[in-house]
Amino acid sequence: MTLCKIRSLSLSILALCAVGAPAAATERPWSLAVHGGSGVLERSELTPEKEKAYRAGLDAALEAGAKVLKAGGSSLDAVEAVVRTLEDNPLFNAGKGAVFTAEGRNELDASIMDGATLKAGAVAGVTRTRNPISLARAVMEKSPHVMLAREGADLFSKEQGLEQVEPGYFRTEERWKQLETWRKDHQAMLDPTHLFGTVGAVALDQAGHLAAATSTGGMTGKRWARVGDTPIIGAGTYARDGVCAVSATGSGEYFIRETAARQVCDRIAWKGEDVQTAADQTMASITKIGGDGGLIAMDGQGRPAFGMNDLGMYRGAISSTTPTPRTAIFSNESSPR
Ligand code: ASP
Repeated sequence: MTLCKIRSLSLSILALCAVGAPAAATERPWSLAVHGGSGVLERSELTPEKEKAYRAGLDAALEAGAKVLKAGGSSLDAVEAVVRTLEDNPLFNAGKGAVFTAEGRNELDASIMDGATLKAGAVAGVTRTRNPISLARAVMEKSPHVMLAREGADLFSKEQGLEQVEPGYFRTEERWKQLETWRKDHQAMLDPTHLFGTVGAVALDQAGHLAAATSTGGMTGKRWARVGDTPIIGAGTYARDGVCAVSATGSGEYFIRETAARQVCDRIAWKGEDVQTAADQTMASITKIGGDGGLIAMDGQGRPAFGMNDLGMYRGAISSTTPTPRTAIFSNESSPR
């Protein structure tokens, strides 16, 4: 081997090291937490098959988001990817599998927020967009507005070329049965169990930016174009770099009145509470006025927190330090850290 050849060989070994080694060494911290709704569910009511299916749904969503974050993608892309996965999963009350209104329709709400710019987008009462979270993102990025509702939002969705579906696409038999049960036993204005299913995600990316996203069909039996907390920035969703990102689920009227998502962030920013205390205290304020549900939060360093006052909340987390999905369902099960 000539000297020249040896030199070029050692240079390529050096180059290989330069490509191979630093990729792992320079992976900066990232973190992702997800929820699939909260509600009144006894452990005995969840069959092992169903539990497995829900956990698999959460795992798939966490993996979709982790793929983005691991590759150095943005927290905004990650939370959108997570929520799209859960919107496509008929088990959850968002996108396909959404609950029905009193009139037997599916009216979908969603919102997304970018912690780096404080830009946000939201949609309420949409009926034809397969993935409402992507429509919320389009509102944020392609319109001068923060929230669009109903026919106008459906029209904007079409104009943006987002995938349109027939309203029947969202229907599942299980959700229809829930509506029929609700119709028979009509005392409650809204289904008090709300039986799980709203979905949401919060994430920190390798560049240190936070984002949050939430999507839902709302509550079984909703009427009069009711809108819950999910599409309301500051109630169901909030993100601010260096402080926190939040996605909520539960009886939306109470989360609106307590501006729950923003409250978590303000507790951290102004009272110096850690993210778990801020999540718990915010849930305590919801409990005090008669609301129920839960929320996921993440601080500026990517530490996740889960707060709830229901019997359970489908939830999970994954991060650069623990890169395998971890999930929990019941409130007496410890939450992933
Ligand atoms: N928060 C949602 C709403 O009020 C429902 C839920 O999270 O279960 O529309």
